[in-house]
Amino acid sequence: METVFISDLHLDKTRPKITNYFCEFIENRSETMENLYILGDFVESWVGDDDPADGIIDAFEVIKSISNQTKIYFMQGNRDFMITSKICDKYGMKLIKDPTLINLYNRKVLLMHGDTLCVDDIKYQEFRKLVRNESWQAEMMRKSLEERLEIANALRNKSMSETNYKDEFIMDVNEKEVEKYFVESGAEIIIHGHTHRPKVHDIEIDRRLHKRIVLGDWDLKSHILITSNKNLELIEIEIK
Ligand code: MN
Repeated sequence: METVFISDLHLDKTRPKITNYFCEFIENRSETMENLYILGDFVESWVGDDDPADGIIDAFEVIKSISNQTKIYFMQGNRDFMITSKICDKYGMKLIKDPTLINLYNRKVLLMHGDTLCVDDIKYQEFRKLVRNESWQAEMMRKSLEERLEIANALRNKSMSETNYKDEFIMDVNEKEVEKYFVESGAEIIIHGHTHRPKVHDIEIDRRLHKRIVLGDWDLKSHILITSNKNLELIEIEIK
C-alpha cells in the first residue's frame, strides 16, 4: 500500500488533457493507494461553494468515487484557497491546514503548499494576507456567481496574455524560513509544491539530515511523490 502526494495540477477548462490524465491516474492507482494528499493548487481558480467546476467536474467525481477505499486529504493553495470543508465533504476529502504535521510510516513529515515559505516575495505575502482575510472573502461572496466567475476569468486571461502560463515566475523559498519550519515542527521531512521546482533537497540542521521534497506542477510532465513503508520516491510522470 502507498501514500501519494500531488500538487499544482492547476485544473482548468482550458487544459482538458490534465483533467483526463488525472482521472485515469486516480482510477489506475486507486487499489494500492491508501492515502492521497493534494497539497494545493488542485484547480486554477475557485470562486466559492457555488463554483460550477466548469470543465473539471470529472476530477472531483473521480475523487468521490475512490473515497471509500482511499483517504483523501486536501490542502488549499494560493489558487484554490476558497475551497471550503463543505466542498471537501461533498467529494469525500478531508480539508487539512497549512502546515500539517503527519506521521508517515513512522517519519515526522510537515506538509505545506509552499507559498508561505516564499517570504522574499513581499508583494505576494501582502496579497496573501488580504485574500485570506475573512472579511475580504465575505465581501467576495456577496457578489453574484456571475460576477465572481467574470473576475476569475479576467484574472486568467490577464495571466495568459502577460506571461505564458508555463513561464509564470514564482519566487523560490527562503532557506531561513525553511529551517525555521523544520526546527519548530521537529519534522525530518517537509513536502510542498507551489514553486514548480521539483527536487529533493538535503539540508543539514544541527548535524542531522533533513529532506525538503518539492512536488512539480502538472503540464507535459510532473513530479509526484510516492511513499510506502519501504520507499520514498519523487517520480516523474509523463502527462499524455
Ligand atoms: Mn501555488
